Parts: sequence; C-alpha cells; structure tokens
Amino acid sequence: MIEAIRKEDFPIFQKRINDKELIYLDSAATTQRPKQVIDAVRDFWENKNANVARSLHTLAEEATTAYEEVRKKVARFIGCSENEIIFTRNTTEAINFVMRGYENKLGSRDNITTTIMEHHSNFVPWQWLAKKRSSEFLVIDINDDGTLNESEFDKIDRARIVAITMASNVLGTINDIKRVCKIAKETGTMVVVDAAQAAPHMKIDVKELGCDFLAFSGHKMLAPFGVGVLYGKRERLEEMDPALYGSEMIKKVSVEESEWNDIPQKFEAGTPAVDAIVGLGAAIDYLNDIGMHKIRQHEIELTSFALDSLSDCGVKIVGPLDAKKRTGLVSFVLDNIHPHDVSLLLDREGIAIRSGHHCAMPLHTRLGLPQGTSRASFYIYNSQKDIEALVQSLKKIKQMFG
Ligand code: PMP
Repeated sequence: MIEAIRKEDFPIFQKRINDKELIYLDSAATTQRPKQVIDAVRDFWENKNANVARSLHTLAEEATTAYEEVRKKVARFIGCSENEIIFTRNTTEAINFVMRGYENKLGSRDNITTTIMEHHSNFVPWQWLAKKRSSEFLVIDINDDGTLNESEFDKIDRARIVAITMASNVLGTINDIKRVCKIAKETGTMVVVDAAQAAPHMKIDVKELGCDFLAFSGHKMLAPFGVGVLYGKRERLEEMDPALYGSEMIKKVSVEESEWNDIPQKFEAGTPAVDAIVGLGAAIDYLNDIGMHKIRQHEIELTSFALDSLSDCGVKIVGPLDAKKRTGLVSFVLDNIHPHDVSLLLDREGIAIRSGHHCAMPLHTRLGLPQGTSRASFYIYNSQKDIEALVQSLKKIKQMFG
C-alpha cells in the first residue's frame, strides 16, 4: 500500500536528489502533498476563485460554501462544532491568538504552567505573558526516559493556564492530555494543547480530551502552507478578546465604538487563505480515506523498527524507547558528530532529515545536548526501506569519522 501511495499520489517522489531516490524523513517539519490536495487547490483557482463572505455574486457564494464546508470537515475531524473552529495561518499563530486573547484578563496571581518539552511556539508566548503580568512561569520537567515528571503535576492546579504539547517534536513523547485536563478541571485551570505533532498522526476528539483550546497546522498533515486551526470551547471563545481587529470581524462600527461579530468570525479578521483552506479539506478527506487508526498503527510499526535499528547502529536516542508511547519520529545523536554534519552527509545520499534544536532549546539544554539532535520523522508514504537506507548511511558516516 505504501508503494502505491508514494508512486501514484505524491509527485515529489519522482524527483531525484543528488542523483539518488528521495528519501523524505522530515515530515515533522512539513509533509509532502498528494495530488488530490494539489488538484483541489487548482480546481478552486480555476473554478471557484473569489473572496469569501463578502460579495453576493455566484463565484463568491461558491467560494464561501467551499470554505465553510472545510470548517465543518475540520470540526468533524476533531469532534467539535463548526463555530468552535477558527482558521489561522499555523499553530504558532493559533497559540498566540489565545495568549493575546487573555493578555488583559490575567493578573499577577494567575500563574502559567508549561513543560520543558515544548516547541518555542508553545513556550515563548506564555513566558512573555507571565513576565508581562508579573505572574509565575512554571515548567514541568521530564524524567530520564523523556516522559513528563508527574510528581510535578501540582504545577497544573497552581496555574490559571496550562500550555502543553500533545506530542513532542523532539522526544516523540505522547502526553496524557486527558489526565492533565481532568486535574485542571478541578481548579478551573484552562488547558491549551499544541497538537501540531499529534493531529496529523492520531485520532483526536477534543471533547473526550476535555481541553479548552487545541492548535495544529495544515502543512504538517498534507495540506498547503498558510492554514492552521485553533479549536476553542464555545464559552472560551465568547470570553476571549480578538487578537486581530478590522475587516469582517465586526458586526457594527461607528465613530464611537465597534461591536464584534459572532464566533468564529470574531477571530478571523482579513482575507483568509481560502485556497489553502480548500486544500486542507482535501487533505482531511485523504487522511480519512486511509483512516487515522491505520496511520497511527503504521507509524507505531515504523517507529518500533527505527528504534531497534538505530539502537543497533549505536546512536543515542532521546525519548521513550516504547514506540506506543511516541509519535512517528526519532531524534538521536551520532557519537560526537555535529547534527548538521550528519544532515549534510545524509543529503548526499538523497536522505532528508532535520538537525538542530527543532525550536526546542530549553529541552536540548535540559538534555545536555547544546548542539541539538538529528531527527528522522515519518508519515504515510514512508516504509521500512527508508529507515534501512538511513541506518546504512549513518553506518557509513560513523566509519568516515573513524
Ligand atoms: N508545535 C510543535 C510541537 C511543532 O512541531 C511545530 C512545528 N515544528 C510548531 C508548534 C509550530 O508549527 P508552525 O510552524 O506550523 O506554526
């Protein structure tokens, strides 16, 4: 099935890199796009292109219908109602929307808690807000195996906001968000979930999780760049301030004052990336056709194979060693070879991985790996053959460095 998907649906795999077959192991940074998504975007441009929610002509209505259909699709994808879905540019913007939305509603006693394994996008906005409000910024640590240190979970109920990733983009660790939300609920603490590395890889039901907000990016799940999603519980979206002002986010404007539009439009000022949003709809159809449970199963098998074969070739792996506790990526260090060298040498073989801090500097400092790590990340188009090629090349690099 993988070979068929790869050959028939993903045109990029026709491309050769340094005269080698492309082995793409960088989907945690961004995924490749299937032709179903490319075709949907082209069809929009060729047949429906107009601005949304503004003009009354036929094309504008068709564009608006296509746009709103995707909102419904996203809502079904994560189990909420359509007016709880806000389109943003990406995960970073979605999280910043929440931070800005509560910027003026927090006092100095409203602590903010996050974890040491966060991407900067779910760390820096909260660190900045805590500083601005002179409140405490609490950080939950990890255990040696890269799982969260639950003995520090008292930091959840000591906070007004908990910002936590559902899956780490470095350790791969999948956090028990349901448990965090349960603890938070007892004190009315709000939970903001970064699902950038989770939504593309596993079935999410926001009502079952019980979170207040959840953010993810289209480009990490086969969709075009430029569209992200913010889910917010209806009552939270009602109370939260908008981050962007103007355009269609208002109901009424006078010289004296303005009245905000209903949710979700209250948060969607300015012309959205309608084409990318249509592409996101096609991406969700594509993922649903395969089945999120099947995707998760495939990634567990690949990750398990990668953990075993990378351990055999002597690399130091970070994060839990049980594939069921992690998402489809493995970060590692190869002897004392700089991760950037590893990446450049792999590129010569047509293998694309990522190296560096992966926008998680506090975590790398905590791990004692200031130079960063190398990260191989998988998706629906990857097979064991890709991991075998990676391991073979890593062995060669090891030999080269003696
Ligand atoms: N959170 C996590 C866990 C991520 O992996 C990423 C992307 N590397 C982001 C947030 C930011 O995503 P984006 O750049 O699409 O805003």
